[in-house]
Amino acid sequence: MKVGILGATGAVGQKFIRLLQDHPWFSISALGASERSSGKKYSEAANWIEDITLPSKVAAMTVRNCDPAEFSDVDFVFSGLDSSVAGEIEGAFARAGIPVISNAKNYRMDDTVPLLVPEINPEQIELIKKQEFTKDGSGWIVTNPNCVAVPLSMALKPLHDAFGVDTVILTTMQAISGAGYPGVASLDILGNVVPFISGEEPKIGPETRKLLSAEFDLQATATRVPTLNGHMLSATIKFKKKPADLEEVRDAYSNWHNPISALNLPFSPSEVYKIHEKDTYPQPRLHADQEGGMQLHIGRLRMAEVFDISLMAMAHNTIRGAAGGAILNAELLHKKGYLG
Ligand code: NAP
Repeated sequence: MKVGILGATGAVGQKFIRLLQDHPWFSISALGASERSSGKKYSEAANWIEDITLPSKVAAMTVRNCDPAEFSDVDFVFSGLDSSVAGEIEGAFARAGIPVISNAKNYRMDDTVPLLVPEINPEQIELIKKQEFTKDGSGWIVTNPNCVAVPLSMALKPLHDAFGVDTVILTTMQAISGAGYPGVASLDILGNVVPFISGEEPKIGPETRKLLSAEFDLQATATRVPTLNGHMLSATIKFKKKPADLEEVRDAYSNWHNPISALNLPFSPSEVYKIHEKDTYPQPRLHADQEGGMQLHIGRLRMAEVFDISLMAMAHNTIRGAAGGAILNAELLHKKGYLG
């Protein structure tokens, strides 16, 4: 299938380009960004930050305006657009009959828009049928969640199924790549921790509740730390039904059934959960890239003195939490017949 990337010059856009290089089903055929970049060769428009050589075919492509009329040759688009423009542009693409698989926040909480993590809530793709961007249903929007809501919902899903989540107290340690490019000023973040990320905390509760189709209380503190990739989460959780011991908690993960395992999607990790026994794991530098950056790492599982249990969770923010998650969404949509 021919794929366009909107916001192709940004941190998430570049990750799409890297991850789609050898994709068996999707091939990059159009790139879009702002007026600053459009009309230029991609190699001139983008400051390439991935640690592979910019693929020559992509380097030579001319960046287009994010105007649906300039993308009539693609089957669908991935969006890594800045949220200040994503609402208008993604809506215009959907109205023009071009499906949009988005990373931006703008449509995530819309009642008719799937907020999708395929292993958690694959049934949400059915919401597409309620969208009215086009009369014939050819244009629609599917979103993936905020890069904290992804690992949090994944960490909670087996526990919620087993015990019912009641309350979560969460502190995040978020990598600098989560702020996009050029992102946080080096003088602010080198050798430092910034105890606030603008706009981040209010997204985490609503998105995680939508992902799990559940009502629970969540208090989040989002911090920026000087790691490159991999958001680390510290969560203390109270359940509706208290687990008897840690064995029951571990069983919840090992008994969990992956609803999309039979589909053998190219971006599915072979093991969705890696439960670390070593007290000093998981670590972003050691584990964020494992299983193509698509795995959810859990460690420090322990019974808690306040509430019921505590854990650490970690996932690659621009892969599992953004571009890789969106590609997995597209693979599921393709298998289910939504992308032709
Ligand atoms: P970024 O590095 O700042 O990239 C933003 C992209 O949007 C660039 O390609 C930029 O193009 C384009 N853009 C800006 N203004 C535009 C306009 N007026 N018209 C068309 N294109 C425009 O941001 P990012 O980190 O990649 O994030 C992209 C989106 O994904 C955001 O909505 C973000 O919240 C979301 N997200 C990010 C992460 C993460 O870990 N980084 C995780 C999950 C979700 P120019 O280069 O031409 O300006």
